[in-house]
Amino acid sequence: MVKIKVGVLALQGDVAEHASMLSKIDLEPVPIKYIHELEGIEALIIPGGESTTINRLADFAAAELLDRIKEKALKERMPVYGTCMGSIMLAKSVEGSDQKTLCLMDITVRRNAYGPQKASFEADIAIRGEALPYPAVFIRAPQIISAGKDVEILARGENEIFMARQKNLLATTFHPELTEDTRVHEFFKGMIEEILVKEG
Ligand code: GLN
Repeated sequence: MVKIKVGVLALQGDVAEHASMLSKIDLEPVPIKYIHELEGIEALIIPGGESTTINRLADFAAAELLDRIKEKALKERMPVYGTCMGSIMLAKSVEGSDQKTLCLMDITVRRNAYGPQKASFEADIAIRGEALPYPAVFIRAPQIISAGKDVEILARGENEIFMARQKNLLATTFHPELTEDTRVHEFFKGMIEEILVKEG
């Protein structure tokens, strides 16, 4: 069986951890650094990291790469999953900032929303459709503070959203690649398969 190739944007962040998760669930990870590498993949993960770094890259080296990712997500309905900083990259707006993003998902995010004391923590969260709680790791995490009507909310806290989907796009403010639990990556796999079937 030919495995579905899933790119992992390899400009910074947890690239190896995402790749190992993808291998565990029988997908083929492909690190993506250059624009031509995008043509061989069916879907893409944008890992966590520092969005200001990505922004600097966006101004220089990676501008064309990021433009092509946006185009593939919009025109070819390529599934894209952003974790933590990746969710900031997908967002249409970043609270209190004119930070550049891919502007793909109708969500607003607040960066570093848990402040310095609680900057990193683990919490069991409920994900829609899952019987057991998910051990979510938050690292200087953002919050999704609002979402448009086309956005499906898959996990939420009291005032914030942890996981959301809009058609071919998925965002989590936490890092599922840092646990042993493959359910979030499997959810993304389900999205990829659903979209591949639809596109024929
Ligand atoms: N604090 C980072 C930012 O706002 C995100 C942190 C992460 O991806 N782990 O860019």
